[in-house]
Amino acid sequence: MKKTLKTLVVSGALVLAGVALPAPLANAVGEGPNHDGNGQITTSKLATYDEMVDFLKKQDASQERMELEVIGQTVKGRDIHLVKYLTDPSKPTILYLTQQHGNEQLTTEGAMEFIKHLGTGKSGGILDGVNILIVPMLNADGAMGDVNFPLDDYIAKGERHLTRYNAEEVDLNRDHVAKIQPETQALHNNVMRKYPIDYMIDLHHQGSRSERDGQLVSGSILYPTTPNADPAVVEKSKQLGAVVFNSVDPTGWGHLGKYLGGDAETISRNGIAVEYGIATLLFEMRGMSDHYLDDYALGLRSNGYLIKQTVLTLTSTAAAIADGSITTADTTFWETLATQTSRPGEEADGE
Ligand SMILES: [Zn+2]
Repeated sequence: MKKTLKTLVVSGALVLAGVALPAPLANAVGEGPNHDGNGQITTSKLATYDEMVDFLKKQDASQERMELEVIGQTVKGRDIHLVKYLTDPSKPTILYLTQQHGNEQLTTEGAMEFIKHLGTGKSGGILDGVNILIVPMLNADGAMGDVNFPLDDYIAKGERHLTRYNAEEVDLNRDHVAKIQPETQALHNNVMRKYPIDYMIDLHHQGSRSERDGQLVSGSILYPTTPNADPAVVEKSKQLGAVVFNSVDPTGWGHLGKYLGGDAETISRNGIAVEYGIATLLFEMRGMSDHYLDDYALGLRSNGYLIKQTVLTLTSTAAAIADGSITTADTTFWETLATQTSRPGEEADGE
């Protein structure tokens, strides 16, 4: 009885002091169920390409400020969509890109949820201060497993397999200098070169066994690391990362590490920062929707947290740009944020 009372008093003092109590560990997505634990990998809960397009068309019909544009076609002829909220040319613009890698789908699910919120009072007010561009599911062929190579060794159950590569077995996030694939061309010709974009978040998923400070992460982040990027652009990118870190890491279920990324400009995080002077952030969420490696695919019981992590990331960054607070975001946390490491058994794949 005494102990209970003391606990209550301490908790009360923390609440009064404005200290957020961490959620129980059981709720942390980083330590959440893996596929070989009590999770199951299945693609049946994921939106198909057609379901996503139906959703976008319905939102376009019902949202006054939203515009939907087709910016090109995939190798297999699927239309690639751009969602536009261009409310005021004098305001800054952010681009959110999802699913360059087809087997990294929860970022797209989160982007769809965010689009829904922008049409309601929930997040609609943000649009007064920022222009928002969203390219969801850039690699639709990979997302639907409609590719010119076999996926027999992929492990997810469900109606389809999802793969990193596009239909020609090319990694789209290594095509940002040569720009050979139709998906990459659509992005560069009809988005990057057409709009005055200030910020971009490139949303991905990584393996399931990366950790920071001994705890599995819910994701990892990184700014442009090529020496050719303008230092001012890198600093803006670090501010974008600060907004994400400060929104996600203290939630109790979010736990972020620093991604160990390369300097190649074929990667969008680097190439787009150099070519267009856009501040870029890579966000890698935990686990993939499908893979041929056990340690990469993650059970569907983590889906809810990862979708929520995406919605929080998009909402917090759009809001911080809209109210200008991003320009004073403190970037010193990057100096102490530990680079994530992988638990034994995980092979490197790369953003
Ligand atoms: Zn990826």
